[in-house]
Amino acid sequence: MTYLAVTDLRGQTLTPSELAAALPRAEVDVESAVAAVRPLVEDVAHRGAAAVLEASERFDGVRPAHLRVPQAELDRALAELDPAIRAALEDAISRVRAVSQGDVRSEERVQVVPGGIVTQRWVPVRRVGLYAPGGRAVLPSSVVMNVVPAQVAGVEQIVLASPPQKEFGGLPHPTVLAACALLGVTEVIAAGGAQAIAVLAHGAPDLGDGTVLDPVDLITGPGNVYVVAAKRLVSSRVGIDAEAGPTEIAILADSSADARFVAADLISQAEHDPLAASILVTDDAPLVARVEEQLALQVPDALHAERIAEALRGRQSGAILVEDMDRGLEVVNSYGAEHLEIQTREAAAVAARVSNAGAVFVGDHSPVSLGDYAAGSNHVLPTGGTSRSTGGLGVQTFLRGIHVVEYDRTALEGARATATTLAVAEGLPSHGRAVDIRFED
Ligand code: NAD
Repeated sequence: MTYLAVTDLRGQTLTPSELAAALPRAEVDVESAVAAVRPLVEDVAHRGAAAVLEASERFDGVRPAHLRVPQAELDRALAELDPAIRAALEDAISRVRAVSQGDVRSEERVQVVPGGIVTQRWVPVRRVGLYAPGGRAVLPSSVVMNVVPAQVAGVEQIVLASPPQKEFGGLPHPTVLAACALLGVTEVIAAGGAQAIAVLAHGAPDLGDGTVLDPVDLITGPGNVYVVAAKRLVSSRVGIDAEAGPTEIAILADSSADARFVAADLISQAEHDPLAASILVTDDAPLVARVEEQLALQVPDALHAERIAEALRGRQSGAILVEDMDRGLEVVNSYGAEHLEIQTREAAAVAARVSNAGAVFVGDHSPVSLGDYAAGSNHVLPTGGTSRSTGGLGVQTFLRGIHVVEYDRTALEGARATATTLAVAEGLPSHGRAVDIRFED
């Protein structure tokens, strides 16, 4: 039984919406998960910590002794961290910090006319809630990807939530705690899924230890479909980053691609979640056969073979045959993958023509796994086609632009006719009057 269902688009003329409908997408969409988690989010909003603890028992199989992780546990996790993992985390942190620092924008002061100045200030969000997954896999790398840009942006208060782990007595995974300690994050909540997002958004008057959890202003971070659904639900109350849900990899490849690499990369993202999407877009039908051969060799040897097979055979994954690279680019731009690899001849030139993707990985030696941990780029990226309207997590996610307007009398006089004319045209003469009054004796 093959892994990838083949969609043959060769010779077909499709409108943009027909093309979008022909591409594979997951069966479980965020909207159906929203309906499933709404009662839970409302329960946490009303009953606070008690509702979070009940949900943890139900979904994580453990009732944490402390929703707020004691500082001693953070210190202990760092002290006991394997030195090799510590070195890897430190290297990842410095790479992500280097890229984040390049993402900082400085204040811009524009003199529109003499005496008329508009300054663009960038102000960090005051209090943020960051999510690091810990369901099927535990992702301390997501601690790095969330915390580093927030710190570079100058965020004052960082709260991080990650699911409680049964085998660690209801604490988040020790490597998650150690990564928090390494980065100086002290407010850590042992909660996962929709209940974590709800408690970050609504806060809690008592976390069970007499401490208050203040609500945050912005929630960021990746997660499964329930995490994404809960973020969508609370987004009328707090800011959220992009919908960073079950992972997606699309690979645009031609006959020059190495089928071993293509198969390994498709498998690497399928490993996350049975809902993960792995898509190959190619103009070379024999490549699909070679990739299938490689999948048959590589999947059974993988630790999570069952989950990988389910993801590869799910309706969200598959191979798409196109007549040439122009058509291939049309397909990947329509799909808007979270991760897009270009494994073609002249890969950089092909990559330059990509307009919709969370992140683009160019050539044979830039696999998505590199970006997951150690490229310096951020791995919290938009899924479900949302890369068409938004980018991945970065310093800018944690900043707000504020225009500061300073005009003197002469500069206002120069703008007077424009303002009053437009005010009258809009039927709002009092707007014009507020300008005119400044020139009356
Ligand atoms: P997770 O922490 O996102 O989710 C685990 C939580 O889900 C549990 O704590 C539980 O409370 C909740 N849950 C489980 N089943 C539920 C149900 N039926 N109803 C309500 N809540 C339920 O960890 P995970 O499950 O391993 O998922 C991590 C996800 O993050 C994967 O899908 C992965 O692909 C994705 N990811 C995305 C990006 C990105 O940037 N897009 C980056 C990294 C990881």
